[in-house]
Amino acid sequence: VDDELVRIYRLPPFYRAQRIEDLLGAIVVGLAPHTSGGVAGRIVGFSAAEACLAPPVFHAAKRRNCDGDEDSVTLLLDPLLNFSRSFLPSSRGALMDKPLVLTTRVDPTEVDGEARNVDVGCRYPLALYRAAEARQAPKEVEPLIDIVAHRIGGPHALSGYGFTHDTTDLAGGPVQSAYRRAGSMDRMVAESMGLAAKIRAVDLAEAIGLLLNTHFLPDVMGNLKSYATQKFICKSCRESYRRPPLALRCSARGHDGALCGGELLPTVHEASVRKYVPLTQRLSRTPGVSPYVR
Ligand SMILES: [Zn+2]
Repeated sequence: VDDELVRIYRLPPFYRAQRIEDLLGAIVVGLAPHTSGGVAGRIVGFSAAEACLAPPVFHAAKRRNCDGDEDSVTLLLDPLLNFSRSFLPSSRGALMDKPLVLTTRVDPTEVDGEARNVDVGCRYPLALYRAAEARQAPKEVEPLIDIVAHRIGGPHALSGYGFTHDTTDLAGGPVQSAYRRAGSMDRMVAESMGLAAKIRAVDLAEAIGLLLNTHFLPDVMGNLKSYATQKFICKSCRESYRRPPLALRCSARGHDGALCGGELLPTVHEASVRKYVPLTQRLSRTPGVSPYVR
C-alpha cells in the first residue's frame, strides 16, 4: 500500500513499516469469505497460529463463528485506496468478498446469538457442578454463568472477558487447523469421523447420516443437475449451445457462410460429478446408517 501511495499517487508513505511490530495499533478490516460486510479492528499483537484471534463479537460481526472457517484481515488503507464499486464485475457473486459496507463499532445485540452465549467468567460456581450431577438442563443453569448476553447494556459488554485456564502462549494449542493439514476431502472426513468415533457423546451413525444428508447428497444432486443441464461449447469457434444439436456437430456459420462443423465439448465434466460418489457410498455403508439414506 505504501509503494502504491509513493509510486502511483506520488504521496508520502503511510504505514512506513520496517518490521512487523511497526503495524501494532494499525486499523484493519476483517472480512470473511463470501460476505461483503467488513468489520474494523485494531492489531494488538501477533501469534504463531494460522488464525485470527479476536473477541467473539468481532468474529460474529463478520458472520463467522470460531470453528475453523477461513478468514481475512486487510490494512484499512488498502480497501480505502483500492476498492470502488465501479471496479466490480457484473457477474454473479461479484458482490462477495468485497467490503461493500464497513462496520466501525460492533454491537453485541446486532450479531448472531452464538456470540452472546460465549461464557466469559473467570471461574464456574460450585452450583454448576452440583447441577451437572443432578443432570439439570443447560437452560436452567444459564443464570449461574457469566455469558456475553448477561453483560449487554452494561459497561463490560465488550471488555473484561474472563477465562478459566491460564496459558503462557496464546498460540500454545494447534497452530494450524486440522482441515488445512488434511488436504483431501477423503482424509478430512476420515479424520473427523475417527474423532467422532472416539467421543462417547457422539452417535457415529447419526453423525454420518447428518453429514450425508446436509453435505454430500445435496452436493451430488446439485452436480448431477448441472451435468444434465449443461451447456456445450464448440471446440473450433467457441459457439455455445444451451443443448447439443442432434447432429452433435457445431452448426454455426462463419462470415463466408461455411458450416463450422466443429466438435462439441461438454462444459461440466463427468469426473466433477462423480468426485464424492465413492466416498458417499463408503460412508453410507457404516453400520447403523438409516436404510433410507442408503
Ligand atoms: Zn463451431
